Amino acid sequence: MNMAVVEYGVDINLLKGKVLSGGKITKDEALELASSELDELCRSADEIRERFCGNAFDFCSIINGKSGGCTENCKFCSQSAHHNTDIAKYSLIGEGEAVEGARYNFDRGVGRFAIVTAGRAMNDAEIDELCKNYESIGNHCGVFKCASHGLLRADQLTRLKNAGVRRYHSNLETSRNFFPQVCTTHSYDDKITTIKNARSAGLEVCSGGIFGIGETMEDRIDMALDLRELGVKSVPVNILSPIPGTPLENNEVLSNDEARRIVAIYRFILPDAMIRMAGGRGLLPDKGESVFRSGANAATTGDLLTTTGTSINFDMALVKRLGYEAKFH
Ligand code: SF4
Repeated sequence: MNMAVVEYGVDINLLKGKVLSGGKITKDEALELASSELDELCRSADEIRERFCGNAFDFCSIINGKSGGCTENCKFCSQSAHHNTDIAKYSLIGEGEAVEGARYNFDRGVGRFAIVTAGRAMNDAEIDELCKNYESIGNHCGVFKCASHGLLRADQLTRLKNAGVRRYHSNLETSRNFFPQVCTTHSYDDKITTIKNARSAGLEVCSGGIFGIGETMEDRIDMALDLRELGVKSVPVNILSPIPGTPLENNEVLSNDEARRIVAIYRFILPDAMIRMAGGRGLLPDKGESVFRSGANAATTGDLLTTTGTSINFDMALVKRLGYEAKFH
């Protein structure tokens, strides 16, 4: 007899079977998983990952293309001008720096590269500059280009697409219900509109959120269900790093077990997505090892990213040891 059934009142195996046979779990079922036995939940999520995604592990790297001074008030973010943080502020980086960043990572086996900019959106002159950067990256290496530049219009996204960008990143961040507690200068619907604009421009979408910002498990599940509804196949999982000077500076960092439970439940809801450990992975004591055994199969990596707390070599060796192969999915 399955001990998890007796002890926790939820049959993980039954829900796993439902997902493995192509079914979709409901919100109530996902909520049941929130109080299930953790090790069995994680093993089952890993099995679902293996069935739907095989052993492909998807690495990406990013460069901070514009930093600080953002007009928006996202509570978790060090780059908001509403908070008093100690960060570097600079305008758009030049072509040389973008190309150098892309090549550095691509030469070390990281197949995806994104320029990420602070700010609500980009103006048209900035989009022109960014397009030049993406074209130049394309002329120098074969990296798969992603972009993250805020709440863009469809025509701006089309220009990025024409400059060689393949995928656009815009996080939902949290649930629709909790979003107004996190940010009041733009809305959840603004995010959804951007995602739909990216799709209509012919771009793939990368969208996930940040955890440990005061949200409940129900908020996490609601966001995953919205991502499923939107058909998102690349889902960044950021763990809050409480930054001095932000309203969330005193939040507790998520435990390793809580991170495992989040990715495992996300795997049940999004069986064929690349669940990508992004910011805050370095806060986990094992740098992600246990979450990569619990349903996560992608990560942001880099030698200069303070958020990962790892290096490309470390990450490549780690995922190889876990039986993954670094490649596109
Ligand atoms: S819009 Fe982006 S850069 Fe600006 S505060 Fe929010 S998360 Fe930070």
